Amino acid sequence: MDTSLRILTRIETINFIVSNRERIEIAISDYSNVVPYKEKPEKLNAELDKAGIRHYIIQEMVWRDLEFPKSKNKVSDNEAVQVYKGCGMHCRTLYDLKLWHCSYESSAYRAGIMEANENQDYIDLKKCNKKELLEFYWGYSTKGYDSLCRYCHPYGKIIPAGIKMPKIG
Ligand code: SF4
Repeated sequence: MDTSLRILTRIETINFIVSNRERIEIAISDYSNVVPYKEKPEKLNAELDKAGIRHYIIQEMVWRDLEFPKSKNKVSDNEAVQVYKGCGMHCRTLYDLKLWHCSYESSAYRAGIMEANENQDYIDLKKCNKKELLEFYWGYSTKGYDSLCRYCHPYGKIIPAGIKMPKIG
């Protein structure tokens, strides 16, 4: 499980983690070298230590500029499958009881700049069974790629992690 510290605001998430602590390890993305919130990772670290929940902090991070929505390039279905396979995205997002393959696509959808399709981009935890959930988690989907893969450049230039870029448009 990855968190960028917003997890602190979700009490039901905390309760779930505490009651499943043997099966969970938390990776905390710490942007305090660029974002003024040094006390937050320290506080979360101390709380997780106290609760006996396995965790580690990731500090050396870089991000990639995926060039969406700047770039409007749209590749074919077959090319999108290759983009998805080559990307190897491992960062899933759980939001509103839906599991997303790609955290970037989930963010783009929530920002209102991307359409999304059930069972391609996300799976609804209220409807799926355990087998379907596991298959989806490991990359299976109806089309073999996420909707955003048709526009995405996962090998774009490296940019500093945690720094907000200017709004486009
Ligand atoms: S949208 Fe981009 S980052 Fe996400 S899985 Fe597709 S290629 Fe990878």
